[in-house]
Amino acid sequence: MKQVAARCLLCGKTYDVEEDHKDFKKLSEQAKEVPSFICDFCSNRVRHESDEKRKEKKPI
Ligand SMILES: [Zn+2]
Repeated sequence: MKQVAARCLLCGKTYDVEEDHKDFKKLSEQAKEVPSFICDFCSNRVRHESDEKRKEKKPI
C-alpha cells in the first residue's frame, strides 16, 4: 500500500497516511516536501471542542 508522510497542523506530529485515507489524494497532490493535514485525533478533538462551545454560547 502506498503511503505519504504528512505533518499534522495542530499537533505537529508526522504520520504515514495510507492510500485508503480520505485525505490521501489531497496530500499527494500538495507540492510540498511534507504535506500538511489534520490528523484523525486532532480532527476528533476539534469537532468535540466546537460542539462544547456551541452548547455553552448562544450564537450572536
Ligand atoms: Zn494532530
